[in-house]
Amino acid sequence: MNSQRNILIVISGPSGVGKGTIVNRLMGGNNNMVLSVSCTTRQPREGEQDGVSYFFVKKERFMQMIERGELLEYSAHFDNYYGTPKSFVEDKLKRSDVLLEIEVDGALQVKKSHPEAVLIMLLPPSEGELERRLKNRGTESEEKIAQRVSRVKYELSRAGEYDYRVVNDDLDVAVQQIKDIIRKEKEIKI
Ligand code: ADP
Ligand code: 5GP
Repeated sequence: MNSQRNILIVISGPSGVGKGTIVNRLMGGNNNMVLSVSCTTRQPREGEQDGVSYFFVKKERFMQMIERGELLEYSAHFDNYYGTPKSFVEDKLKRSDVLLEIEVDGALQVKKSHPEAVLIMLLPPSEGELERRLKNRGTESEEKIAQRVSRVKYELSRAGEYDYRVVNDDLDVAVQQIKDIIRKEKEIKI
């Protein structure tokens, strides 16, 4: 007999690989999956709403959350802090699947505290295509793009520690592969 469990899914990948695009597709119409909203000290980009894209907080508040153990994981990168609120995730997991879109250091911290979490790394078809996507998105200055490109090799070097690796070449194919992984991981054979 098969039963289902609620799972914690973590999606990572270098900047520009398509994480945001894929997460939007996974969330669309899926009412049994909740997207965790992270806290960050970075400035909102145009169009980003507090509490929707991120909770935008001051560095002092972020430090307080670390000290009080309010974060499931956190990382400092691109000159800012980013972290996942612990109580939100643990509460939502009682009723639904929870999706985190976070970078590699944080993802591997989650795997330590929640070994049953399912870690998926998105890979670009090539480094050239990755840079093209990041530039085309047009949300960052040249300097910020260079900063993000310089982290790509590090992120890709940790791909072997993930449970799954999915190449985002054709978007529909990548989304379907992730849906298949989630369906398989939710099944508990009893
Ligand atoms: P990330 O969240 O990983 O930084 P985004 O989701 O913002 O990346 O995607 C970066 C850019 O690449 C966007 O302009 C997006 O429309 C585009 N993109 C995403 N997936 C694909 C794909 N499979 N093929 C071509 N372009 C893509
Ligand atoms: P951006 O500034 O483009 O929104 O995000 C930059 C990076 O931070 C992305 O790789 C994203 O996955 C990561 N990120 C977003 N939220 C979190 C978080 O809560 N924790 C960690 N560790 N990384 C995060």
